[in-house]
Amino acid sequence: MSRPLTYLSHYPQHLQDQIRHLIDNNQLGDWLRSRYPSVHNINNDRDLREYAMDIKNRYMKKTQPLSKVVYDGRIHIVNHALGLHSYVARNQGGKLKSKNELRVSDLFKNTPEPFLNMIVVHELAHLKEKDHNKAFYQLCRHMQPDYHQLEFDVRVYLTEMDANGEVF
Ligand SMILES: [Zn+2]
Repeated sequence: MSRPLTYLSHYPQHLQDQIRHLIDNNQLGDWLRSRYPSVHNINNDRDLREYAMDIKNRYMKKTQPLSKVVYDGRIHIVNHALGLHSYVARNQGGKLKSKNELRVSDLFKNTPEPFLNMIVVHELAHLKEKDHNKAFYQLCRHMQPDYHQLEFDVRVYLTEMDANGEVF
């Protein structure tokens, strides 16, 4: 029995088998690089904020403002690269205060632009929908029509990062 593919466990078996086959033949990195030949250069917090605000202003202008948009080196791929939500509850002087922060794992500093886009779209959608429900994915697809394919590819990227480290 091979180790389950953590990031892909919700996808159909035949897709997982294809990816497993590429891993076993040491071809997954090449597969990713041939699909996505270039990386973006949005690698500081100021540029990331501008990038996220452009998308928000285009598709979610009326949704509550973002207090902060940053790359976060503490978000590690194992659990949270796709799971850290924008909604942060803080306990300040006995009062629970909510802030809308958009935090993107450092891992996405050096990736193809579509991967960063998928992550930012995912986090922006959480401003409106806290859960991964139907309305949430509808909103993701509204901002990025290829959302589902990109989420799969990002999960493949995380799988390769786990197996062999740096991809791009
Ligand atoms: Zn989420």
